[in-house]
Amino acid sequence: MERPRSQALFQEAQAHIPGGVSSPVRAFKAVGGTPPYLVRGEGAYVWDLDGNRYLDYVLSWGPLILGHAHPEVLSRVREVMEKGLTFGAPHPLEVELARAVKRAFPVDLVRFVSSGTEATMSALRLARGYTNRPYIVKFRGNYHGHADGLLVEAGSGALTLGVPSSAGVPEAYARLTLVLEYNDPEGLRALLKERGEEIAAIIFEPVVGNAGVLVPTEEFLKALHEAKDYGVLLIADEVMTGFRLAFGGATERFGLKPDLVTLGKVLGGGLPAAAYAGRREVMEKVAPLGPVYQAGTLSGNPLAMAAGLATLEILEGNPGHYARLEALGARLEAGLKAVLSRKGVPHAVNRVGSMLTVFFTEGPVVTFKDAQRTDTALFRRFFHGLLDRGVYWPPSNFEAAFLSVAHTEEDVDKTLEAVEKAL
Ligand code: PMP
Repeated sequence: MERPRSQALFQEAQAHIPGGVSSPVRAFKAVGGTPPYLVRGEGAYVWDLDGNRYLDYVLSWGPLILGHAHPEVLSRVREVMEKGLTFGAPHPLEVELARAVKRAFPVDLVRFVSSGTEATMSALRLARGYTNRPYIVKFRGNYHGHADGLLVEAGSGALTLGVPSSAGVPEAYARLTLVLEYNDPEGLRALLKERGEEIAAIIFEPVVGNAGVLVPTEEFLKALHEAKDYGVLLIADEVMTGFRLAFGGATERFGLKPDLVTLGKVLGGGLPAAAYAGRREVMEKVAPLGPVYQAGTLSGNPLAMAAGLATLEILEGNPGHYARLEALGARLEAGLKAVLSRKGVPHAVNRVGSMLTVFFTEGPVVTFKDAQRTDTALFRRFFHGLLDRGVYWPPSNFEAAFLSVAHTEEDVDKTLEAVEKAL
């Protein structure tokens, strides 16, 4: 598959944009090669600048659960767009979308922002403002956007303070983030016992997508909820999982009881919308009701609200969509396992609903450490083998592949044939 126009443009882009991209993973650094410039999408398919067609398992990193260019979503956006793009004033669609969020999640008040990064950053500020405590806890391999306090990795030794994982993050700031292993309930319990009273919040991905897919153990989820006994707020980062694993996200699927939920991706239906939400007593601390400041010029903008609302209404009106995503996911998972077993390739396929990762290592893959054992050289071959056969898989082994309701059984089977040939 030739991509001369993408190649030339990507080369030129280096002169104008750092690395040629607006977000790092798009540069294909983990897999090498040139990313195709995608210029059109329809259903489960995308087309690049050179006219090549790909079956899409990235779906703009999650938002497009209905597939590309869904006619109803487009027409709702068009209708709103004709009346003006933004007003910076209250808009009726914000109220409607907030109502939809409340039907999905056990929350009283919803504040809209424009990105997942803003949602988690604001939720953490709120948690600190509400509890008057300095520390937050996050887990290795969980990604919550690029706010300073979240670009932090574990320092050496158990129960130590975080250190910056990006240049430009002050150490003093990173030290306020405590980093633990995901799916290590005992580590969490030990920290809570030692410093529970100083911790404002624990933020976590209820199913991890950003280390590749990791599934929470029951005991880990139990330990997370024990944090409440210490007055620690539990923040379920459902930016990826919300409206994807069920209408009520992982919270519904696993029966979680978070104090705050962060949402994004599907919430905006492909336009920039995200939110943080929780019970009244906590959310009332947000300005203008309370002392925790947070604002946004384009927050709750009508186009994003319209795309999100159209998407949520379609999901809510078609509960069969989730059963379908489950069935497609199961078919892809079973097929991948069969092909890889036949080829004698060590593998672990982690999946929850329509989120899936193939790790090229003996399973089970439960922790971030397990995930890091994956054979990234083999992944590169897998990735490029698929790309050359018209299947656009996430360009990193530490990302989740997504399905949409526009994908078909035939699409999945075609993917499996491509995997067979790629390896
Ligand atoms: N939280 C999670 C769980 C995410 O997956 C992401 C993005 N992949 C974010 C937060 C950040 O969202 P955004 O890219 O919209 O800032």
